[in-house]
Amino acid sequence: MRSPQLYDLLLRGGTIVTPDGARPADVAVLDGRIAALLPPAAPAAGPAAKATLDATGRHVLPGLIDSHVHFRTPGLTHKEEWRTGSMAAVAGGVTTVIDMPNTVPPLITPEDLATRRRLIEGQSLVDYRCHAGVDPSRVAAMRDWDRAEADSFKVFLSSHHTTPTVVRDVRTLRRIFAIAADTGVTLLFHAEDDTVFSLLDQRQAPPVRYSEYERHRPRTGGIVATAQLINLTAEFGVRTHVVHVSTREETDLLAAAASAGIPITFEVTGHHLTFVDADIRRLGPRIRLRPAIRDEADRDRLWEAVRTGEAATVGSDHSPHTALEKARPVPDVPPGLPGVQELFGTLWRGLRSRWPQEATETLMAVVAERLALAPARLFGLADRKGSVEVGKDADLVVVDAEAPWTMTPGRIHTKNGWSAYEGSELLGAVEATVRRGEVVYRQDGSGEVFGERNGRWLPARGSGAAGTAPGGPAGRPRLHTAAAPSVG
Ligand SMILES: [Zn+2]
Repeated sequence: MRSPQLYDLLLRGGTIVTPDGARPADVAVLDGRIAALLPPAAPAAGPAAKATLDATGRHVLPGLIDSHVHFRTPGLTHKEEWRTGSMAAVAGGVTTVIDMPNTVPPLITPEDLATRRRLIEGQSLVDYRCHAGVDPSRVAAMRDWDRAEADSFKVFLSSHHTTPTVVRDVRTLRRIFAIAADTGVTLLFHAEDDTVFSLLDQRQAPPVRYSEYERHRPRTGGIVATAQLINLTAEFGVRTHVVHVSTREETDLLAAAASAGIPITFEVTGHHLTFVDADIRRLGPRIRLRPAIRDEADRDRLWEAVRTGEAATVGSDHSPHTALEKARPVPDVPPGLPGVQELFGTLWRGLRSRWPQEATETLMAVVAERLALAPARLFGLADRKGSVEVGKDADLVVVDAEAPWTMTPGRIHTKNGWSAYEGSELLGAVEATVRRGEVVYRQDGSGEVFGERNGRWLPARGSGAAGTAPGGPAGRPRLHTAAAPSVG
């Protein structure tokens, strides 16, 4: 018999989603951590707790981790800020975000991180860390970081014309890989080749309609960059993660590279899983994106990759712009849309509708893996985050898997005030979000209630893909054997 214990919080009656599957269990929380997973008990027979949360008939997922957001602090807070961005996050079941470096100024040095952390203090409902940036004019600054502060670096191989830190030449790119091989950090890539786009731009006028946009920023740019990154990843043995993969060709290449033992993984976004070129007529600037929205065959392949695990993570690439910015003439419209609040509802709707025969528990496990465990492992958080297990932070989401909901202007929390998903029916209502044992979001009959803005910055610990020794570098690769074609 366990000795009587007064817990801080008890989530009662739910079905928890764990790495081994789903099962009914009550979750007992003490000091911000999961203290016990208990057999479901009648309210009178259960352990004593200062507070209880009824999760009867609901699924209890690990707090979701969105490893790709742009919360725009510092310098771009007219588009988004942590106060509003983190409200959108917890309303979508997200308890941890990893923020991108392309702010004004960008996050390049430890001092930049200190500044950002000061600005976020007291504003955030979610825990967070940041991907550091790489400035091509001072690549050596990558060495100034402690691994706990920055162990993942975002590299833009092309971008919107206002991004100052685009790496355009191979020599610089090779230096970045060499430093990453030395220090053991992970490289993240916006993998579209800038030379390809520049060459094409010399032969065609800027687009005047959104329907022409894909022709101006075609899949070729992504395919060329991805092939180059696979070669460099194999050569240097650096762990790389390609964000927002949009085409079937890139997906096939990356999946093949990973099966050959090359340490490359990739992310798919909620918007590339949702929208196709036919939607551009209806949504115009709202889904002007980089990479561009592709076609149905691409979207089908991306879903397959999410279902099978070829895609390691699903991210929102939450990138708000104001309605005014999106109303500019076509060539000047900034790419990006908000999406952290809609991410779970989008992913769950798609999994449910595309695989109707699968058990709810099987598909929930896919959500828990792509949106919690995998990003936790890749980015040094798995000792505290990413799964419903005793000893981990009590980051938990209570969802009604069967409840549809519609994104309406009144539900939008992001600062820009619009969503490309307005009017769409999503699936899976987030009823409560718990972060380190505190209820930071609650939805009931009377509306939405938010908790305290005491989200913390998280140091990285023991990052690496599954199988990598904690804290150790990725290790030198078996280059030529890994890349060699199989003989069969
Ligand atoms: Zn992004």
